[in-house]
Amino acid sequence: MTTVELFPADIYNQKTIRQGHPPDWINRAGGEYDLVVLGGGPAGLVSAMTAAAEGHRVAMTEQRLTGGTCVNFGCTPSKALIRCARAVHDAGRSTEFGFRLDSAPRTNFPAVMERVRRMRSMSSAGDAVQAVEQTGAEVYLGHTRFTAQNVVEVDGRQLRFRKAVIATGSDPLLPQIDGLQPGEYLGVRAGPGLPPSRQRGRSHQRRSEPAPQ
Ligand SMILES: Cc1cc2nc3c(=O)[nH]c(=O)nc-3n(C[C@H](O)[C@H](O)[C@H](O)COP(=O)(O)OP(=O)(O)OC[C@H]3O[C@@H](n4cnc5c(N)ncnc54)[C@H](O)[C@@H]3O)c2cc1C
Repeated sequence: MTTVELFPADIYNQKTIRQGHPPDWINRAGGEYDLVVLGGGPAGLVSAMTAAAEGHRVAMTEQRLTGGTCVNFGCTPSKALIRCARAVHDAGRSTEFGFRLDSAPRTNFPAVMERVRRMRSMSSAGDAVQAVEQTGAEVYLGHTRFTAQNVVEVDGRQLRFRKAVIATGSDPLLPQIDGLQPGEYLGVRAGPGLPPSRQRGRSHQRRSEPAPQ
């Protein structure tokens, strides 16, 4: 089975991994499903949970962290970072808000990023593998691919389905601009505002962006 690593391996990142891709998780043997959902981001989670709540037999697969881009690398981390920036900015407007600081605020960036990781670990609890399982959907962790009509394979398991939802997310397309070389720009997975992350096992790199650092 794939493993997921987040750096640094502090308590918050370990919690995020335990929730989104438990290291001791053992996939079921496979089976027959009314619905198989590929991808455990917001779209996949809603599809799987809604169908399970309606009484359908559902499997949701995720190769990396449940919660997908939003909770792990997008919405939550960026908003946590922006919140810190706003706090510092507001501190710089102290007289306007009726208080006085003896010195200008100084940013401790490692502490900012620790808070980002802490916020993420709290936020990802709602999208955790266990939370999905509690709705009745069965979670499979690993890269998933279609192998035959109405069959996908994940971690060597075959899942047969009546319907499938492909909710594997998207990436920005690198525009064909002369002189724009990989490594000379920052994409959403490589930006300094995102907690660095790496995946061991199958590469998560897609067509248009450099691998996350
Ligand atoms: C920096 C940033 C900030 C953002 N802020 C906001 C915000 O404030 N508000 C907002 O509404 N949106 C925000 N977004 C957008 C939001 O993150 C996306 O719209 C949302 O995550 C899309 O959900 P999704 O389920 O379609 O895809 P994703 O969240 O990308 O999920 C797709 C999942 O599929 C998995 N997957 C892919 N291929 C396979 C495979 N073959 N087998 C198994 N699993 C696979 C991936 O690992 C991933 O977990 C932000 C995005 C970024 C990058």
